[in-house]
Amino acid sequence: MGTSTESKLRIQLKEWLKVISELIYPEPPVCIVCKTAITTRAHIPMELAKSNLSGKVCNACFGKLEFILDSYCTVCGRSIRCDDAESQFCQDCSSDNQRYFVSNRAAVAYNEAIQDIIHRLKYRGQRELADLLAAIAHNAFKYYYQDIHIDIIIPVPLHVDRLAERGFNQAAMIGNKLAADLQIPIDTTSLQRVLHTPKQSKKTRWDRIQPLDGVFVYRDQQSDQQREQQTNQLESPLSNKSVLLLDDIYTTGTTVDACAKVLKAAGAANVYVLTLAR
Ligand SMILES: [Zn+2]
Ligand SMILES: [Zn+2]
Repeated sequence: MGTSTESKLRIQLKEWLKVISELIYPEPPVCIVCKTAITTRAHIPMELAKSNLSGKVCNACFGKLEFILDSYCTVCGRSIRCDDAESQFCQDCSSDNQRYFVSNRAAVAYNEAIQDIIHRLKYRGQRELADLLAAIAHNAFKYYYQDIHIDIIIPVPLHVDRLAERGFNQAAMIGNKLAADLQIPIDTTSLQRVLHTPKQSKKTRWDRIQPLDGVFVYRDQQSDQQREQQTNQLESPLSNKSVLLLDDIYTTGTTVDACAKVLKAAGAANVYVLTLAR
């Protein structure tokens, strides 16, 4: 037997041994957020347990998410601490707040952990995190909006330039998964962001609470002509519809309110908002 055949055999044998040892001692699964090995199973709330998250997120990452469940502001969904649990509103909201949306509900309180997960999806392209975020959104939808009839899901759009830069819209990505799970139609094209706004982080708080007039438009993707032929009337496809507007973070509410204003002008009866974090 020549030495080259011998070394080939040796390599083959090594590869087989590797396969066998992996079968006997499988590598522990890795957390989709922090990429470390999952050694202890995360305690996952009931609704989320039904999703396929079990065994994909480590205990440490999951434990840092602060799910909003008990007392929250009835306008913006922010968690209200026990000491002011008597109030229905948070510091930012009151019953006479003028707004175009009915309510916002958020899955978790805004903290470093959720910020990190959203960041990893948006800027580091960890697209598998959309599954986790969609499951979290699904959980919140079931918790808060279960009894409300929703006709269509509309994610908050990105400006085309930013979409080109990032390659995807995280809200649309999560929305598509949520829509498939809930079997509710989704429209990711008609609501459009036509004006660039500076990134949130570069604005002062005062800038952030200014109205965003003219930033969003609703352009039905079905042409008027087509619609006229089909129904003989020019009716907005949003007429009398209940919309679920989806975004990742609710900061001051100006973005979702500007969208809600446009959707209502296009005929929507009600706009409910669901965000991952508040
Ligand atoms: Zn982790
Ligand atoms: Zn509030």
